[in-house]
Amino acid sequence: MSRRVAGLARWLALLLLAPALALQGDDLPSERAAPGGVLIVDLAPAAAPRPDARLGDVPVLVVAHAGRWLAVVGVALSQAPGALALQVDGRTAWLHVRAWRYREQRLKVPPSQVDLSAGDLARVQGEQALIRAAVAGAEPTPPPGLRLRPPLAGERSSSFGLRRTFNGQSRDPHSGMDIAAPAGTPVHAAAAGTVRATGSYFFNGNTVIVDHGGGLTTMYCHLSRIDVHEGEALAAGAVLGLSGATGRVTGPHLHFGVALNRAFVDPALFLPAAGGASRP
Ligand code: ZN
Repeated sequence: MSRRVAGLARWLALLLLAPALALQGDDLPSERAAPGGVLIVDLAPAAAPRPDARLGDVPVLVVAHAGRWLAVVGVALSQAPGALALQVDGRTAWLHVRAWRYREQRLKVPPSQVDLSAGDLARVQGEQALIRAAVAGAEPTPPPGLRLRPPLAGERSSSFGLRRTFNGQSRDPHSGMDIAAPAGTPVHAAAAGTVRATGSYFFNGNTVIVDHGGGLTTMYCHLSRIDVHEGEALAAGAVLGLSGATGRVTGPHLHFGVALNRAFVDPALFLPAAGGASRP
């Protein structure tokens, strides 16, 4: 098959298999077909058996909504724009990821937090493996709804996805939302779930990771105090600790992360609009 024909076939597959949906109900996240965003893909009528959807070998959240089975796909910040293959019951559906330009942010922190010692580097690598495992979640049952409540009522920065340099050196993009809060402000679970991990990490400071089921997890970082333990069941809005300034920070705030199928996505897509009735 020539390149031209292959390209045409791919376009046809895109048109047929990945319709953009207008089904933005109260319990779905907002859609953004870009790195760090969420794609909502209509799979089948809800009367059909529940389809199995995967990105590579990672299961994707599938929910029934308005009479349809929908895949709710987290798109990693590292995903290149273009075609993204979703496996649905063993067949390939081609999704389209748009280019999205996130701003750049330059930060200054103590040199020891950028030029890590061998010991700190080993520690960070171990912690990153733990965090990746916890963020994957372990509870297969999807949550009853996919909207989240703000973990606290502070001013939200629009800093998700920022391409960051620390002391002039580029590092991973910012994978969550920073919410301003004086140290000691209660931090609430964004939805019901099970505490998957707690820890005191080099970059993230005191951290809690909550598993909401179906591959949706939330992460709360830089806490001054952790009030929950691993395995604990939390109601939506339960206090899980107090905000603080632990880890690599320039001041007290809450770093709030939301992950879907192991990809950190923009928490704003799951939260009520800022400034409205958005108390935790
Ligand atoms: Zn942050």
